[in-house]
Amino acid sequence: MANASRAPSTAGPRLPAGKGTYALVVGLDTPCKLNVGKLGPVELPAGYCLYFGSALGGLAGRIRRHLRRQKKLWWHIDYLTRVAAPEEVWWNESAGRAECGWAAAGLLLPGATTPAPGFGASDCRCNSHLVHVSARPLAEDFHRALGPGQPPSIGVLQTARTPTRRS
Ligand SMILES: [Zn+2]
Repeated sequence: MANASRAPSTAGPRLPAGKGTYALVVGLDTPCKLNVGKLGPVELPAGYCLYFGSALGGLAGRIRRHLRRQKKLWWHIDYLTRVAAPEEVWWNESAGRAECGWAAAGLLLPGATTPAPGFGASDCRCNSHLVHVSARPLAEDFHRALGPGQPPSIGVLQTARTPTRRS
């Protein structure tokens, strides 16, 4: 496990150098309504959203982008991370993309639902790459849910908590 960094946007030294798969943990104090580009309106309950993605061009740059609020809206997740910054990022460096397996593991967490079908899953057969849970999910529980054959550990980056911006 990586040590926590309290810096919200300059978590540089603890970010992985390679490419791989990641999960964003985004806390929502209140229910959140988003208009997500072509996907349309999405309603997310209060609690925690887990978003799963892969960065084959490098994890560090991608994670930094997700932690930044000012950005062009490109991916579905951008519509969420511009109003609510991730509190935690989990990752694993690997040559290939494992995001669909991670999304399936996320659904094994207690009380997991997919409030936004199709979110982040335009290019695969998953129901959604956005999973919602009521209580803050723990990286250890998620790592266990990944099951056998998975990496011996996953990296964890904690960011400073920033409250949900009303929009
Ligand atoms: Zn998928």
